[in-house]
Amino acid sequence: MLKKYQQEHEARYTPRLVMEEASRCLLCLDAPCSSSCPAGTDPAKFIRSVRFKNVKGAAETVRINNLLGAICARVCPTERYCQAGCSRSGIDKPIEIGRIQRYITDFEADLDMDILEAKEGNGKKVAVIGSGPAGLTAAGELALLGYEVTIYEKEAKAGGYLRYGIPEYRLPNEVVDKEIERIVKLGVDIVLNTKVGEDVTLEELKKEYAAVVLAVGYSKGKMLPMFEGNRKVVLAVDFLKKVKDRKGNVKVPNNVLVIGGGDVAMDVVTTLKMLGAEQVTDVVYETFAEFKASKKELEGAQKEGVSIIDGYVPVSTARGGIVKFKHRYINSELKIKADLIVLAVGQVADLEKLPVELEKGEVKASGNHMGANVFFAGDIGHGEKTVVYGVKLGKEVAKAVDAYLGGK
Ligand SMILES: Cc1cc2nc3c(=O)[nH]c(=O)nc-3n(C[C@H](O)[C@H](O)[C@H](O)COP(=O)(O)OP(=O)(O)OC[C@H]3O[C@@H](n4cnc5c(N)ncnc54)[C@H](O)[C@@H]3O)c2cc1C
Ligand code: SF4
Repeated sequence: MLKKYQQEHEARYTPRLVMEEASRCLLCLDAPCSSSCPAGTDPAKFIRSVRFKNVKGAAETVRINNLLGAICARVCPTERYCQAGCSRSGIDKPIEIGRIQRYITDFEADLDMDILEAKEGNGKKVAVIGSGPAGLTAAGELALLGYEVTIYEKEAKAGGYLRYGIPEYRLPNEVVDKEIERIVKLGVDIVLNTKVGEDVTLEELKKEYAAVVLAVGYSKGKMLPMFEGNRKVVLAVDFLKKVKDRKGNVKVPNNVLVIGGGDVAMDVVTTLKMLGAEQVTDVVYETFAEFKASKKELEGAQKEGVSIIDGYVPVSTARGGIVKFKHRYINSELKIKADLIVLAVGQVADLEKLPVELEKGEVKASGNHMGANVFFAGDIGHGEKTVVYGVKLGKEVAKAVDAYLGGK
């Protein structure tokens, strides 16, 4: 069971299989896959390289365009982006772009390729707050432009939800470590265990650095008032963090209730099954027709034997881990008793002691400039709350900072 959690699920392509998949590509001229990658990773170009047996060239294309290429290859919801418009769908099925990208970035890692090189230093210092995908990308892109970049991270290790959220079987921490190592090699300094707002203030950073990029993400799980103080309740992101931190060495009870139906909930239910929970019941607000989780994640959970009940909202709780639900459309009630209740109903920003105003969960500013020398990127910005979108916003904020500080 534990091994199942610790081992990456999706098998790596063999050289023969990757070539077969790349050979299905139609080599489109105005390739829809490339125009629909938020990070501009350019699948059409790297698939063409693979097809002509130039995997090194393919690795260069991925890495130059996407500093987190090996991570995106594993966790990107490709069905929403590059694969959504793939011309090959008109014939049979879209090209498996994520898996080809995975093959290429594994090749890059196996050969320890060093593709990127920072420009000579320009003497200007930038601080980045938060080391999730947006902060890491912003820092790496700025280092490439010659800035002296320091990331401040409140946790003991860098990576944000890459390290502490997405489970090991989808994204091994070894891959996260390798991507961060590459960014550090560009000259980025990461100061860990340092919470901005507590250990150092934003005002201090604004004075010390020519510019500051806020990329603090949505680092806290959302609580529902009726569950407040209930000892049987844990928040999904806290549960996933504990499991990933301990490489799956966590005991779970047999009967677990999960509330929520997004990708985070799917990660929780699948993880619980892998750790040995016998009965995992997921009660979801949306009906199956409105489901938020990606098809792949939902199928993964169903394959593990999770019971999913759609269309119900929690209305009250009683002692002994009992939760009562009501259906949203039909006259039906449901009572479930569990040893553990995991709430997966969303994440919020933790802006305590940071002078930042949010409107509907996003920084109240147009573009990515908050005013003075402070910029922002990632989940707290305006976007789609995915890793690849974090990479896109990280790239954009690096350009904005460079323009502000007199770059091209
Ligand atoms: C369980 C889970 C699974 C997911 N799965 C996927 C997936 O498969 N595919 C996908 O595309 N997206 C997925 N996502 C979403 C994706 O992880 C996020 O959209 C992405 O991580 C956001 O990046 P970010 O850089 O804005 O923030 P984060 O990754 O949240 O990083 C923010 C960082 O800032 C740090 N921080 C916060 N406050 C401070 C402070 N005051 N001082 C210093 N540091 C601070 C945090 O510790 C954290 O390291 C998932 C999210 C979760 C929770
Ligand atoms: S859209 Fe599909 S078929 Fe066309 S270049 Fe991209 S991967 Fe190949």
